[in-house]
Amino acid sequence: MFALDPSLGRDEPLRVLALGAHADDVEIGAGGTVFRLIAERPQTEVTLVVFSASGARIDEARASADALLADAARADVHVLGFRDGYFPVEAAEVKGWAQAHLEGLRPHLVLTHRRDDAHQDHRVVADLAWQTFRGAAIAAYEIPKWDGDLDRPNAYVALDAATRSIISSRPRIASDSPTMSESTASTSAERKRASSRRSRVRSTARRSACAATSISTGLVRKS
Ligand SMILES: [Zn+2]
Repeated sequence: MFALDPSLGRDEPLRVLALGAHADDVEIGAGGTVFRLIAERPQTEVTLVVFSASGARIDEARASADALLADAARADVHVLGFRDGYFPVEAAEVKGWAQAHLEGLRPHLVLTHRRDDAHQDHRVVADLAWQTFRGAAIAAYEIPKWDGDLDRPNAYVALDAATRSIISSRPRIASDSPTMSESTASTSAERKRASSRRSRVRSTARRSACAATSISTGLVRKS
């Protein structure tokens, strides 16, 4: 378990880098953590990268990032066009982009995928984080999906009442609203898949919420 310096984000900027292979990854895997960090540390600066988005997903990713980072002291969002599902064969280009655009950020905290995630694109982004940001605290998040590869996290971030209230005020993020992919699905099969995805996301959130009551949240608090 690691902890962040309490002064970061309060007396001086806390620099957070959130990496997601695809649109929605950061919001699903670490959205609550980002909300709570920003709520507790108003001087938090966030750089968010979505490595792969195309078509309508580009606007969705930007709208979602705007909702997630509305209260951040500074928000820098990159939505890129790397090919979904092909990151291992495009790894040199992905890493080259990151080194050219992100290495100078010197983040205190990097949020990224797990290195043993079953999705090939997620693993490339996770490896890139560990290779590039050796001086940062790196926290890996899970994405519920078809592969059923959820693990046993060693840190949970409890979403207190204040944070839940902020989340409910953002209709594009709130769990009781249709997900963005669900609201834009054009066929019944697409809607069914999106609805199924929403159920998996909710079940993961419930699992985390239960565990958070008995596990200390060293991720955001030094106590
Ligand atoms: Zn993904």
